[in-house]
Formats: sequence, C-alpha cells, structure tokens
Amino acid sequence: MLRYGGNTTCVEVVAEGRHIILDAGTGLRMLGDSLAQAQAPRQLDLLITHTHWDHIIGFPFFAPLFDPDLKLDIYGLARTQSSLRTTLAGALSDPLLPLNMDDLRAQINFFEIGAGHCFELGPVQVRTALANHPYRALAYRLETPDGVLTFIPDTGPFHTVLFGEERIEWTGQPTARSQSELRELAAMKAAILELAYRADWLIYDAQFTDAQYARFPHWGHSSATQAREIAEEAQVRQLILFHHDPHRTDEELDRIVAEQQALAAPGLLVTAAFEGMELWRKP
Ligand SMILES: [Zn+2]
Ligand SMILES: [Zn+2]
Repeated sequence: MLRYGGNTTCVEVVAEGRHIILDAGTGLRMLGDSLAQAQAPRQLDLLITHTHWDHIIGFPFFAPLFDPDLKLDIYGLARTQSSLRTTLAGALSDPLLPLNMDDLRAQINFFEIGAGHCFELGPVQVRTALANHPYRALAYRLETPDGVLTFIPDTGPFHTVLFGEERIEWTGQPTARSQSELRELAAMKAAILELAYRADWLIYDAQFTDAQYARFPHWGHSSATQAREIAEEAQVRQLILFHHDPHRTDEELDRIVAEQQALAAPGLLVTAAFEGMELWRKP
C-alpha cells in the first residue's frame, strides 16, 4: 500500500483540455478532490469497463456529481440484465446509500455501447473491444496524434474459459466447451490485440501470479506473464501491470516487474501501476 497504493481502478486521461476518466473505483474520490483544487473542468467523460464493485464503488463519492455546472457523460457496456443507469443508481440509493439520481446536480448522460464501437471525445478517438471476463467487460483504446493508451483492467487470457452473459461453471479443466467457443475466444483475442496494437501504454490486468491463475482461472484475471505476452504480441511500447491483487506487497510487485522485464522482448518496458503514476506530461 505504501508505494503502489491500495485504491481500485480509476485512471484520468487529459488530452488538449479534455478530461476522460477510465473506471470509477475508489480512486475516483481522490480524483474528485484534485479536480476541485484545480480549475474544475465543465465537462467530464467517464468510460466504465464493467460494473463490478471495484470499478464503480467510487462513483457515489465523486464530489463533482454535485456540481450543477458539470456535464458528465458516462459510457459503459450495454447489457441485457440491467441498464447502466439502473446499476449506478442502485449503487447510491437505499439500502446501500441514502441518495438517488435526482440528488445529483451534474447534468449526467448515459451511453450504452458495445464491442467494436468507435467514437470521438474531443481530440480523442475511442474504440472498444470485449475482454474475457465474467458477464463481460469492455476494453478501451484512446488515441490522439500524441499517443495511444489501451486500457484492459479486467480480462482472463484467451485460451481457456469464455465468459458470456451467464454464470460459468468451472470444472477444473481449462478447456473450451465447443468449436464455436474456441472461434469466439480467438476472435476476442484478435480484437484485443488490435486494440492494443503498437500502443504507447498498455494498462493490463495482472492480478494473478501464475500459481494463482492455475487455481482461479474462472475469475477472469490474467497473470503478469500473460499480460507481458499480450503486450509483446501487440508490439506495445510500455506495459503497465494493473489491478494488483489486494494481498500483493510492494516487494512482491517489485519482484514481478523485474521478472517480467527480464523476460520481455527488446523494446518493451515493463512497469506496474502505482498511486499517482503519471505516464506522460506535456512540457
Ligand atoms: Zn471485474
Ligand atoms: Zn476488477
């Protein structure tokens, strides 16, 4: 916690004055505080990969939600079970918290999107793909002439279990259930590689050690080895290991980074995300 931090997923991207937030984990509360200290932007875009608790639990505690001058556009995966708005409203209303959407003063719009979706947020081109995660999750590529960042915080590898919109049963055998499932896994991996292709920064799920992956493959997370292999295949410049296991110590993370850097293809820089990490700063 001391060096790498303990907040859950939240990354801010700033491009030519446009502020884009990736996921609304506990880090979002601190981001709200820091935005309030600076000249607070009038417009924010929040791109949510999926609505597991660790990716939305900061939402009710994001102070700008109560700023009537703020326009907040929230993007997330269209799902059959529940709308994005309903899920986020549930996270802040009774019996979990005493709020409801009408208490929020910002002008909030919801956009439900799918895989392969392309859109522009000011100067930023955004593209999506599906990750291999229980009940699905989106992955995002953000691109400007100044750089490419690909964000894939939660995904398993693409050779074993396919996660659809149903609860999967793990039988202890890392085998796909049918030929069509194998084809779908291959297509999913191809789309992920395309999303990460030659990215300057790939922020990628590396929750597990290889031993943990072998025990919990159905959780939909990757090991640092699997993250590095994707980064190499996609010819990424810098890999940022992300979504660290909450039990991982700073020393263990140091060791994982060193191990993966030693194994990495020439030209690939391996790093691990830490609290307050800045990937690039315009002079
Ligand atoms: Zn998840
Ligand atoms: Zn997660």
